[in-house]
Amino acid sequence: MKIKENIHLLKIDFNIQLSPEKVLPRFVNVLLIFGEKITLVDTGVKGSEEKIFSYIAENGRSYSEIETVILSHSHPDHIGSAARIKELTGCKILAHPAEKTWIEEIAVQEKERPVPGFSNLVDRSVTIDEFIENGQILDFGNNQTAKIIHAPGHSAGSVNLYFRNEKVLFTADSIPLKSDIPNYDNAHQLLVSLHVIEKNSDYEILLSSWTPAFSDAHEIKKLLAEGRSWIEMIDKAVKANYKGTETEYLEFCRATVHQLGLPPFLVNPIVDRSFRSHL
Ligand SMILES: [Zn+2]
Repeated sequence: MKIKENIHLLKIDFNIQLSPEKVLPRFVNVLLIFGEKITLVDTGVKGSEEKIFSYIAENGRSYSEIETVILSHSHPDHIGSAARIKELTGCKILAHPAEKTWIEEIAVQEKERPVPGFSNLVDRSVTIDEFIENGQILDFGNNQTAKIIHAPGHSAGSVNLYFRNEKVLFTADSIPLKSDIPNYDNAHQLLVSLHVIEKNSDYEILLSSWTPAFSDAHEIKKLLAEGRSWIEMIDKAVKANYKGTETEYLEFCRATVHQLGLPPFLVNPIVDRSFRSHL
């Protein structure tokens, strides 16, 4: 989908296998920047290169022009096909240094953040070629640039991209969605990063990894307010339930999931990890 002449968003559907019987359908957006060369922001899950390359061909360009892949962070649906795309194109991989271990050693990520069906979502580890940092300006040629905004919280090295000339802000997974899976490393930092997005009035189009594009200022404000109130609601539920010592594994997580009216399959180590970041 064309957002601006040189900025496109491609939706990639995938499934998380929760158990042999239960599948959770999700999607992730890949951002394509058609500059002098082609830059991708994120790569979708394992095997997404076919869909990305087809989309590039439909737009009259070739996948061999991919020169750079920026990874907004290390989670499986963002890095899944990065190694394969690097192998096929020789592109450079850019990411924030705080994401290094989970991108370059996916076995460590799987152990520390065990997303169900992890190996179906990520092809393999990939080496970062250049680190990016807060405030850095990336130049794509054709008078197109983007500023890196470090947005910790969802993960330690999550980054957002701000395209000043096009007035487009890409927020990756930084905006929590109302009633969606609690899925972050640090609740306090997540709210701080959300505040940075809220007070930035200098964009007209807001993009994220898990929503359609937003261009209506009222809808954007509502999205951000709902994300904030969802995290505040989780904060209250966590503080009411996480007390003392658990007598049973994930006991506090179970009580909090129940209180929030979330489905029982969210009683799992990833959600527990997010809840504990409130304490
Ligand atoms: Zn993520």
